[in-house]
Amino acid sequence: MNRLAFYALCAAATLLVPSARAFNIVANGRAQAAVLVDPQATESAAKAADELIVYVEKMTGQKLRRIDRPNTAWKTIRIGAPAKFSKSDEIAVFVNRRGELEITGEGTRGPVYAVFKFLETFGVRYWSPWRETVPEVKSLSVGNNFKLNHKPAFESRSGWGVSHSGHEPRFASWRMKMGANASVPKGFGTPHVVNISETMTRKYLKAEKYFAEHPEWYALVDGERKRTQICQSNQEAVDALIAEVRAELAANTNCTSISLGSDDNDKFCRCDGCRKILAQDDCGDTALEIHVANQVARAISKDYPRAKVSILAYWTKERPPRKMKLEPNVVVGMALGRNYAYPVTQSQAWMEKADGWARAADSRIYIWDYYANFRNFQEPRPDAINIVPNVRHYHSRGFLGASAQLSIGTFSTFGEMKAYLWSQAIWNAEVDADKIIAEFIAANYGKGAGQVRQYWDLMVNALKKAEAPSMGNYGSNYEQWFTPEMMFTSWRLINEALKLTEDDPLANRQCEYLLVAVINDFVLRWEKAEIEKRLETARLTVPIVSRPALVRQLDEICRKYRYPSYWSEQIGWDKRMDDWREKYKEAER
Ligand SMILES: [Zn+2]
Repeated sequence: MNRLAFYALCAAATLLVPSARAFNIVANGRAQAAVLVDPQATESAAKAADELIVYVEKMTGQKLRRIDRPNTAWKTIRIGAPAKFSKSDEIAVFVNRRGELEITGEGTRGPVYAVFKFLETFGVRYWSPWRETVPEVKSLSVGNNFKLNHKPAFESRSGWGVSHSGHEPRFASWRMKMGANASVPKGFGTPHVVNISETMTRKYLKAEKYFAEHPEWYALVDGERKRTQICQSNQEAVDALIAEVRAELAANTNCTSISLGSDDNDKFCRCDGCRKILAQDDCGDTALEIHVANQVARAISKDYPRAKVSILAYWTKERPPRKMKLEPNVVVGMALGRNYAYPVTQSQAWMEKADGWARAADSRIYIWDYYANFRNFQEPRPDAINIVPNVRHYHSRGFLGASAQLSIGTFSTFGEMKAYLWSQAIWNAEVDADKIIAEFIAANYGKGAGQVRQYWDLMVNALKKAEAPSMGNYGSNYEQWFTPEMMFTSWRLINEALKLTEDDPLANRQCEYLLVAVINDFVLRWEKAEIEKRLETARLTVPIVSRPALVRQLDEICRKYRYPSYWSEQIGWDKRMDDWREKYKEAER
């Protein structure tokens, strides 16, 4: 980021020049403050102090000292002092009455979030596990009336995207910097665990364990007992489930979240008993899941008052109950399908179901959202524009948690930007999406940012102008609104961006990722979009020779990055290239 943009970014929040009326951390290249971990702080405050020292050194070249008690040689930065907070993970940074800079936060993780968010006010940005912006400055200070107070929009925050989901420490570290809390690296506090998954017949009442002896515990489907689901009206099965859950809670006193989601299929029981339960309400298989969850919830509420039981509003269980009541210790994971081309507020069906669930569960809702086509992570799909409007809606309804499945492929179109925007929004629903997107593109695509921005706008405008855009989790009609002309424009823009970033390896790599998405589309739509015919009149600076030539180019890029991760949910890039090398070999001219 250039210096001018950086100053503009920070001017509102902080002072960058030393001043008598300011708390100086570093002034004119000399450290003025030292870091004190409050004696009453939670364990993670020590990690928070380490992170602050590391980043201040990166920014100023000055390594702040750690001190055990305030002294006259240094101003004190006090980390992790207990304070009153109203929200889980809330953070506060301010100059206290003793003239110390206090950086603190709620609970076991709060001080760490406080440091990372404080650093953001100086222009530090954690774009992805691979790239950060850390401004270099001579002085670092805040005004004496400086105040940073964030109350995270949701108590449970997570995501599954290209930047979230890796086992290397850099992923865990990035999630922490972004304020996520579902999994937390050692020493950074305890994770906020909310189990929302499909556990029935897999974790609880395992079919492999019980089906042979008790087929009647399992679903009657087309007149036959099947392992697909349990028989929710079978009291013996429910009692066995309660025993399993109680045993788990007894063995693990820290466990506060029991997921009772049905398995991922629509083959539910239709025995006489289950039909009676279904008839109690007008909400489909939802009734069966609630019938079981309520019994488990009642059975554990007294002995395990902190534990919650979760159900899953998904697929054949999307409809909320009208008559059945949820026990107060039942929470709902809500993964309602919709047309992802639009914000949720524009889907009447989604809104009706979601509002019904919010009423039934008194807003004890954990959103499970989607921003990807799992059949092709590279397709033109600017669904990120809906993230902030959606998150604001979830926040306005008082939902407790927000998680989303995002594009996970390394080459997924703007996958890292999506992961970044989602993470920022679920921490603070009031973020300015346009500003974040502008910043992200400027910082990540270097001298190619102008072209990349045009490519992004091309997709966004095409989507906005589309007459009836349709986006599902497993497909979309983007070919109807992202025209062949737009494909050629994308080709030109991204090739220009590549040329412009030749001397900037990081930005060049980001542009090359986008080129993969562009080529991918040409390969897929070669016939339908009549590319060969169009090439006769197209004037291209960088020529397109043939589909086999494009496949060869893709293969070269893939080899360079060692065939990274996923083309789709089911297919890796290695497999994709094996198929395409074979398929387009014959056709070569
Ligand atoms: Zn049944």
